[in-house]
Amino acid sequence: MSGTEIFELEVQDVYHYRLSYGGQSSYFHGLKSGHMIGSKCAGCGFVWVPPRPICSRCYEPAEPHALSGRGEVLTCILLPQPPEHLRHLGEQTATALIRPDGADTCIKAFVVTDGDCLRRGSRVQARYLPEIRTIADFYFVPEESDN
Ligand SMILES: [Zn+2]
Repeated sequence: MSGTEIFELEVQDVYHYRLSYGGQSSYFHGLKSGHMIGSKCAGCGFVWVPPRPICSRCYEPAEPHALSGRGEVLTCILLPQPPEHLRHLGEQTATALIRPDGADTCIKAFVVTDGDCLRRGSRVQARYLPEIRTIADFYFVPEESDN
C-alpha cells in the first residue's frame, strides 16, 4: 500500500426503528394520558418513580401504581434559560428533585415557575406535554389550591 492514496468517502446512515421502553412502558403510557405512574413492589411495598418492573431493594416484581402527579420540591436550581422542549412556555424554568406524593423515590424534573426558585417543601403538580417521547416530556408547576 505504500504510495497508494487511501480511498475514502462520506456515508450517512439513517436508521428507522421502533424503540421499546419495555418494563417502563406503563410510565410513558401514563405521561401520554396525563398521569404519573410509578411501580409498587409486591414484596416490600416500596414505590418507585420512574417505575421499575423488579424492585431493586428485594427483587420481587413491582406493578404499575398510579400517583396523583403532585409532590414536593427537595432541591431546586433556576436555569439561565429553559430547555429547548419547554421554551415555548415562555417562563423561567428550574431543574429540581421532586418527591411525588406516595413515592419512596424522587425524580429529577423541570419546574416552570414565576421566577422564584421554589424552596424545599414547596408543593408542585405535574403538567404533561402533548407528545411524549422521553422521560423529560413533563414538568411541574407550583400547585394550585383546590378552592
Ligand atoms: Zn421490594
